[in-house]
Amino acid sequence: MLSFETALATIHQRLLESQPGPPSEVLPLDCAHRRVLAEDVLADRDYPPFHRSTRDGFAVRSVDLAALPATLTCQGEIRAGEPFTGSIGPGECIAIMTGAPLPAGADAVVMLEHVRAGEKAVTVERSVAPGENVVPKGSEAPSGRLVLQRGRPLGAGEIGLLASVGKAQVRVFLPPQVAILPTGDEVVPLDHQPEWFQVRNSNALALAAQVADAGGAPHQLPIAPDTKDSLRHLIEEGLKSDLLILSGGVSKGKYDYVRQVLKELAAEIYVQDVAIRPGKPLVFGRAKKKFFFGLPGNPVSTYVTFELFVRPAIACLAGAEFEPPTFLRARLAEPYQQKIGLTAFLPARVDARGGDPFVSPVGWQGSGDLVGVATANCFLVIHPGQTELAAGGWVDVLPKRQ
Ligand code: AMP
Ligand code: MG
Repeated sequence: MLSFETALATIHQRLLESQPGPPSEVLPLDCAHRRVLAEDVLADRDYPPFHRSTRDGFAVRSVDLAALPATLTCQGEIRAGEPFTGSIGPGECIAIMTGAPLPAGADAVVMLEHVRAGEKAVTVERSVAPGENVVPKGSEAPSGRLVLQRGRPLGAGEIGLLASVGKAQVRVFLPPQVAILPTGDEVVPLDHQPEWFQVRNSNALALAAQVADAGGAPHQLPIAPDTKDSLRHLIEEGLKSDLLILSGGVSKGKYDYVRQVLKELAAEIYVQDVAIRPGKPLVFGRAKKKFFFGLPGNPVSTYVTFELFVRPAIACLAGAEFEPPTFLRARLAEPYQQKIGLTAFLPARVDARGGDPFVSPVGWQGSGDLVGVATANCFLVIHPGQTELAAGGWVDVLPKRQ
């Protein structure tokens, strides 16, 4: 059986080998969220464009505050959004607002809270170091500096940066088309009232949300019944997209036909049976020049295996880096024992109130239990060698995306 790390590395390698790079298009900035940047973006001018005050207060010469309290003569005011061309000399100051340009002669700003201001005379009660409460011109990025590199996924922060450097139009990669194929005779669409022996197609909805969040364009296929012919037909349909994600039917049950049908379609299988829980029967490969993932159908398995393997793969197909899941550290709230030699991902809650973050698994009924996952804010990660874990020890956690 493949370890979690080997499975991840194999998927990464296969994607790298076959990457021609997606095509790109130019979009208005407000349509570019969750896309991946297809051009390098440079600062169009100095950032900030002038020495900018970060406080409401008084622009001063720091040398004038050597002896305290110091009384200075106020020469007027500078508002944000107004050009100011004057300057100050020894013993002088100017009222200044947050975001306004520092006048010539001044080298620092004293906060409003630290002065007593009269009509004209301003008494300063604290000294300031040169440069205090001022962001120097060009210190965030001088004109011409690379501020965002091709291949960067565009979240809200990046969109803000692009707006600030004037990129109203931006070149981005086309998102990969990702087909979602749920399987199972017991699975019914959401608009059907399930019989007592049926379940609603929750995986396809969860997967579509995950795909969109990861930067792909989800495309829903009908639910494939557990018969080889209809499964083959729908898999072939799904392989017209850039990536196919199947849910269910990948285990070794009598009616789990996914692996068999993929083999009949001459698929190359690169990963199958990974030493993780949940999600062991996972399959990754390529058929008709398209990659596919066969995820186990248990809703928590589907959710977790997407986060571990499919999310970085979609980022890669979208033109970004393949970023393996990031584990953070927390202390175990209660002791934990594991007998199996697998990497386990347990729905858990991390609570950082007061001091160190502590993590404890939420009560759950196994890999079908989405109620358990909904109450979790992370997954506790137990590695194969970790059989006896004491309370208070540091462990890995995978934060859950919201
Ligand atoms: P399978 O991987 O096909 O053996 O399915 C494992 C479990 O996941 C079974 O209990 C299925 O009913 C359930 N399941 C499979 N597909 C879905 C789906 N699309 N939505 C919700 N549950 C599913
Ligand atoms: Mg099934």
